[in-house]
Amino acid sequence: MKILVLNAGSSSQKSCLYEITGKNLPKTSSKPLWEATIDWTASNDYGFMEITANGVEKEFKLDPEKRQAAMAKMLETLTAGDTKIIENLSEINVVGHRVVHGGSDYAEATLITEEVKTTIKNLIPLAPSHNPNHLEGIEAIEKVLEDVPQIAVFDTAFHNKMPKEAAIYPIPYEWFEKGIRRYGFHGTSHKYCSQKAAEILGKPLESLRIITCHLGNGASLAAVKNGISINTTMGFTPLEGLMMGNRSGSIDPAILIYLIQKHNFDAEKLNKMLNKESGLKGILGKSGDMRQVIIGMNKGDEKAQFAFNMFIHRLRCCLGEMLASLGGLDALVFTAGIGEHSAIVREKTCVDFEFLGLKIDKEKNTNAGMNTDISTPDAKVRVLVVHTEEDWAIACECWQRMNQGL
Ligand code: ADP
Repeated sequence: MKILVLNAGSSSQKSCLYEITGKNLPKTSSKPLWEATIDWTASNDYGFMEITANGVEKEFKLDPEKRQAAMAKMLETLTAGDTKIIENLSEINVVGHRVVHGGSDYAEATLITEEVKTTIKNLIPLAPSHNPNHLEGIEAIEKVLEDVPQIAVFDTAFHNKMPKEAAIYPIPYEWFEKGIRRYGFHGTSHKYCSQKAAEILGKPLESLRIITCHLGNGASLAAVKNGISINTTMGFTPLEGLMMGNRSGSIDPAILIYLIQKHNFDAEKLNKMLNKESGLKGILGKSGDMRQVIIGMNKGDEKAQFAFNMFIHRLRCCLGEMLASLGGLDALVFTAGIGEHSAIVREKTCVDFEFLGLKIDKEKNTNAGMNTDISTPDAKVRVLVVHTEEDWAIACECWQRMNQGL
């Protein structure tokens, strides 16, 4: 089965073509036959597209005013030139889309119908920098692959079974009825990493209590009990919870009231400050990139050290929250850019949690490969580093959905 995966971010688009053969899903991820990345922020004048296939890398400049045409150009590279890997686009059996916000209706990968498109559209106010791009991608595919099924894999779906006490905010109940609730995000990654953790530990997922730490530019934790997300740090939007690259995470909501009343802030200004100018960037001043924070810290920059300490403090506090929901812990999983690559973040997160039975091996942590256990042999709680593979996970969800019959 040939599966095209489209993963549209706020300023970039990643696409992959996978082929899954045989009657069962492979145990390990396959490499895509073809990969495309479009970066709309590379320059003010043009978008930048990179295609990798057949061991060849091709680069293209794109007109930022013509996004639909960019999608067509991208798809063209599947069937023409050095990166050609199929004769005709009709060989694609299914297209899977990562969709950030699916609201509370969808707990599984879902065939995209007019009704699903309307839901994604209605949720634009809750995911303004993502859902419009997903719709754009879905409609562009409809034009070139009319009869090919498209499947939405929602970031919110994995958290759909969260108990009500975790999902509902303590504000008047009528707001819950109107849709203000914790939805949670990064669901595809949390689900994939918890499944991978069970596989690494050789235990059934249904017997484990796991905290998955997805630490990228956006960051969230999930408390996964017996394979179900029972709590997570992101909420109504991806702004809640941990301190992130550019996002504040949770702050006292009265700060917003104060800024509105005393400093003439309006919604737009608050939005910009909390989503773009806060987090690591807000403290460090110049960058929200953890690598820059660590470089600064190693050079003795006090602000960088402070930003790092805050990141760890907030991460540990949120870990406590997830731990309380689980009532115990079998495995702590680190994933995404920071979680997979930063030994110092993992070390400082775990320090002093030895009383929980959580102990990492310094050597294993420093040289951690992907999908490995970095805890000491006597630790009661396993600490794992897992490489999140959201696009592969989306391809697998599509494969399963197709095999179940649409
Ligand atoms: P997203 O998909 O949310 O854009 P990623 O999962 O790619 O983000 O993670 C990006 C973050 O990972 C950035 O803060 C980056 O600095 C951090 N990162 C990447 N490599 C390292 C590293 N070796 N050490 C520390 N942080 C890293």
